[in-house]
Amino acid sequence: QALRSSYVDANPRSAERHELARRSMPGGNTRTTLYYEPFPLVFERAEGAHLYSLDGRRYLDLLGDYTAGLYGHSHPVLVKALHAALDEGVSFGGHTEREARFAAELRRRFPALELVRFTNSGTEANLFALAAARAHTGRSTVLVFRGGYHGGVLAFGQGGAPLNVPHRFLVGDYNDVDGAREIIAEAGDELAAVLVEPMLGSGGTIPGSPEFLRTLREETARAGALLIFDEIMTSRLAPGGLQQVLGITPDLTTLGKYLGGGMSFGAFGGRAGIMRGFDPSAPGPVWAHAGTFNNNTLTMAAGLAGLEHVLTDTALDELNARGERLRGRLRSVFTDADIPFTVTGRGSLMTFHPVPGPVGSPADLTGADHAARELLFFHLLEQGYWMARRAMVALSLAISDTDCDGVVAAFEEFADRYGA
Ligand code: PLP
Repeated sequence: QALRSSYVDANPRSAERHELARRSMPGGNTRTTLYYEPFPLVFERAEGAHLYSLDGRRYLDLLGDYTAGLYGHSHPVLVKALHAALDEGVSFGGHTEREARFAAELRRRFPALELVRFTNSGTEANLFALAAARAHTGRSTVLVFRGGYHGGVLAFGQGGAPLNVPHRFLVGDYNDVDGAREIIAEAGDELAAVLVEPMLGSGGTIPGSPEFLRTLREETARAGALLIFDEIMTSRLAPGGLQQVLGITPDLTTLGKYLGGGMSFGAFGGRAGIMRGFDPSAPGPVWAHAGTFNNNTLTMAAGLAGLEHVLTDTALDELNARGERLRGRLRSVFTDADIPFTVTGRGSLMTFHPVPGPVGSPADLTGADHAARELLFFHLLEQGYWMARRAMVALSLAISDTDCDGVVAAFEEFADRYGA
């Protein structure tokens, strides 16, 4: 309570903006996940690893825009590429050389993408992957998993299926090998696809077990259904995404977030035999896929520059190694202080769950101490650290080992102040 009232006192301009925004947008919000009570912080500037609030405070950005901000803010290489693209003109309504180079670079990194198409968001990428699965198989049932998040209209929390998407969804339990096998067998020749994140992202950065994911690969193949890996968050966990680490080749893959260099981005692709359905030069009916901004020059420029000049395999490996070290240290802070928080994740992604653990699926979060998580969130804000309200961290390339030392100190202080 004390933390919350000092938050209110410290951020009057954010509060004022919130009141103003409420007049025009429901809850003053156009991106539900950013909302928290009493009102969310408002930022006016960002640079490198830091965000600057309207109320004149600086925060270390541990959230990296929910993984989209992998490069950090205003990376000079991306800024230069964007300026160059702006100077050349925006939105040609025609093709550019860059989009073909960008697509080729994505194929090089993710060999399962024999052919790829761009969209404006991860949500769209998943919608088109599902549409392709439906068109390819002539079936419309899709297996997804509780806690899976594939976009605003494809969110599978405890509440069940979302609205307005023309598929029949079956919702299984994440990491439940036998359960998944049963559902797939029962759905039989009605099953078009299994859509799964190889590690749950929004659902709590909970890794899928290799056995679970391998079972999905085998059983979809047996059922004549497609396996779709949503790697919108997880593609950053290795140069070729989690599919490379796992040695599993999905039929279709969806991408998004950081790969657009901080601009609006999504992509879907996979086996040529499926993706050729979108080939407008092929004889016969062509599957529809359009989008005014699919090849917009700014996304293509920033995305390509990031992949060609910044995100080398070494840079990505180092980022993930830094994440592993930080997660290990923060896990120790909680165990040493005997505070019931469980740290999940992999590489540069992690979440702090207010449960004793272990956490292998969203079902293990039942009975979570939400007040403790709230306390952690407001404590970190007070100390100048910005993470997701759901206690998720996604490190960017701009964050240094010294920054990580500061994070550990802030968690230690949390443990001292609020532990036991
Ligand atoms: N899939 C996953 C795994 C995501 O984490 C997200 C966004 O958080 C999406 C899809 C949706 O992407 P977008 O917000 O770009 O529509």
